Amino acid sequence: MGAWDVDLHEIVIVGAGIAGLTAARTLQDMGFSSVVLEKSKGIGGRCATRRLGEGTFDHGSQFFTVREPAFQELVDGWMLKGAVKEWTRGFPVIGDVTELAGHPRYCGVDGMTSMARAMAEGLDIRREHRVKRVSEARACWQIEVEGGIKLRAGVLVLTAPVPQALRLINDENTWRIGAALSPLLVIHYSPCFTAMVLLDGPSGLPGPGAARVEEGPISWIADNQRKGISPGAVAVTIHASRRFSEEHLDEDPQEIARILAEAAQPLLQSRITECRGHRWRYSVPSSILPVGCFEVDGRAPLYFAGDAFAGNRVEGAALSGLAVARAVAQIVDKGGRKK
Ligand SMILES: Cc1cc2nc3c(=O)[nH]c(=O)nc-3n(C[C@H](O)[C@H](O)[C@H](O)COP(=O)(O)OP(=O)(O)OC[C@H]3O[C@@H](n4cnc5c(N)ncnc54)[C@H](O)[C@@H]3O)c2cc1C
Repeated sequence: MGAWDVDLHEIVIVGAGIAGLTAARTLQDMGFSSVVLEKSKGIGGRCATRRLGEGTFDHGSQFFTVREPAFQELVDGWMLKGAVKEWTRGFPVIGDVTELAGHPRYCGVDGMTSMARAMAEGLDIRREHRVKRVSEARACWQIEVEGGIKLRAGVLVLTAPVPQALRLINDENTWRIGAALSPLLVIHYSPCFTAMVLLDGPSGLPGPGAARVEEGPISWIADNQRKGISPGAVAVTIHASRRFSEEHLDEDPQEIARILAEAAQPLLQSRITECRGHRWRYSVPSSILPVGCFEVDGRAPLYFAGDAFAGNRVEGAALSGLAVARAVAQIVDKGGRKK
């Protein structure tokens, strides 16, 4: 028996962010099982909650909005599980007129990973499984994971940011499916630097404890204690503006965090005592494809899903997860055979 003869799974999903988990959860609820491979220890992807000292920070996405009824249904389910809450109906803008109050902005009850945790229950999620390469074989996809693990999939779903997902495809395959992949080559993402800072007292930030900033290197500042996720310390997340992030893309995130902390200090009532930086190379897509997910119809089906499809942001990622689950369900029997 060759190495590739082991572990044939009907559906393998790469990425346990909102898109991957929505897909796996929806498939499970429809009676299909899948394996989710996630490179990190934690789940949630760019809906990321991290600790520094006694502080808890949302350092990727900060909140989400709901436009589509299908997403509202999902959010209602998360609400029932106690995973999300309405945070506010608007944020003040520092350096401009105050934003008008409007539609609800939701957040995770224990941070933005709460939605991921609510969806993950009962799923086969293999954490710390970084996919190195995927190759198209006769009637399956072969998946190589760091550490020598190999799997085969009848249907493969890639939900990493599109440029990262494309890099996983074995060059030997692209001569055959290269043309089919070309619509994906125009999808780019903007970067975003984040600084997580601890304060020695209240932040003094206005309104719900967060504000958009329209001056200097900062675009967003949020007090995670006021948000309700950091009981142990005043923990403030600072996001750099897109322009600043692009201009400093290859610089040390810790150095950038110090610049952001210095720029933020005048906006804060208390002193910054500690600071940590993070670079999101892929924060939000600058262009999206107007389809729920993207199928490459090869010898075995390959799908791309995530926030570059079905609208962007958390809502787009979830809707894309729903779309890919429905597409996969249509081509796979409950027993897992391709129809
Ligand atoms: C700084 C920042 C601020 C944001 N603010 C907001 C906001 O306020 N509101 C909003 O709605 N959206 C916001 N967003 C965008 C939002 O976070 C994303 O649109 C959404 O989370 C994307 O989900 P996804 O599942 O498509 O992708 P991801 O969350 O990126 O999930 C992909 C997953 O794939 C995994 N992965 C990647 N490569 C591999 C591999 N080789 N092997 C295994 N696993 C792999 C990753 O670890 C990740 O878990 C923000 C994003 C950032 C970075």
